[in-house]
Amino acid sequence: MSTMPSPGRVGDVRRRNVALVLAGIQKNDGTTRAQLAAESGLTKASVSSIVTDLLEAGLVRETSVTRDGERGRPGTGLVLNPARGALAAEINVDYLAVGVLDFKGDLTFHETLERHNRGSLPSDILPLLVAMAQRAVTKAAAAGVELLGGELTVPGLVDVERNVVLAAPNLGWADVELSEELPKLLPVAPFGVSLSNEANSAALAELWFGHGADNRTSERFRDFLYISGEVGVGGGLVIDSQLFAGPQGHAGEIGHVVVHPDGPVCACGGHGCLEAFAGQNAIYSAAGIEWDSTSRQMALLLQLAHDGDERAVSAVEQAGRYLGVAVASTARFANISAVVLGGHFVVLEELITPALRRSLDRHAPGLIPEGNVAVSGLGQTAALRGAAEASVRRILNQAYELIP
Ligand SMILES: [Zn+2]
Repeated sequence: MSTMPSPGRVGDVRRRNVALVLAGIQKNDGTTRAQLAAESGLTKASVSSIVTDLLEAGLVRETSVTRDGERGRPGTGLVLNPARGALAAEINVDYLAVGVLDFKGDLTFHETLERHNRGSLPSDILPLLVAMAQRAVTKAAAAGVELLGGELTVPGLVDVERNVVLAAPNLGWADVELSEELPKLLPVAPFGVSLSNEANSAALAELWFGHGADNRTSERFRDFLYISGEVGVGGGLVIDSQLFAGPQGHAGEIGHVVVHPDGPVCACGGHGCLEAFAGQNAIYSAAGIEWDSTSRQMALLLQLAHDGDERAVSAVEQAGRYLGVAVASTARFANISAVVLGGHFVVLEELITPALRRSLDRHAPGLIPEGNVAVSGLGQTAALRGAAEASVRRILNQAYELIP
């Protein structure tokens, strides 16, 4: 992040305390200084002094709160300033998207551009994305929201430290360095723009806004595998409510787990990967649906399957069956007992989940209970929301940089 401000004059302890106070406010909207002190173990004086700085830096706001069962004057609560936010941008195989997430976690702006990006050079795509980001910044500014940082998420393996897309086979990208392009998405933001993997971002969104955050399901979905179905099949592994990305950030790549040793060749160059059975193109081709430049193939597949067309039904069921093979092995290997499906697996839920369930019962009986196979409710914005929220959290962790 080349545009990052030079380190401030605050010490390490103070930095940690600032992050602690901000995390407390994010976790508990409307919390008071006294509650923050009690929960963090910091003194009231030290919380008050940090809060004064955060108010001055525009990162938090005061709000009046009345607690249940308390009489008298309303107290003063604290919230993250909704007039601050982060940008997310997404490059996918068949669309580009940008979104703005405010500090409260609300997606206040979202734009998608359908486009076939397979084989497109970064120099074809980035200018389009920069124009979309400019529109998002303008809209946010008109709504009074200042964007402090952002994240670009892509369907491939990334090196976050060096801003390099190492391999995005479905885009045709290998070793694409974006250090010069990333800042153009958000030229004046103090925290710059980082890079992430699309499936990891969507898994984080599921953790922060989906099943992992829902009181009714959060216990069951503290450890889960998120599987995103797009042209490729991506995955993100969440262990103990944290993304487990592995030493280089590449763990959870379930799309390239081998499910059939003699299976067809995959975009990654290997043979018999899950993606070669459960990716969109694999399903269309097994269903006898030819590629065209419109995006009508999914609608056609759904229509055929609905009408009971044998090839279409068996193509989707085959995808579900191999999904089950991959999940069964992963569940054993990583001690996972829950799965969340995203992308086209949501659209195909009615056909694919029974096939997946049968496959799980056959290959890993009893391992993943009924009710622990869920579909994401976040829709097409999952990766955007996860990327933007990751950026918000990074900003909150480094917020001492903004303290005067
Ligand atoms: Zn593969």
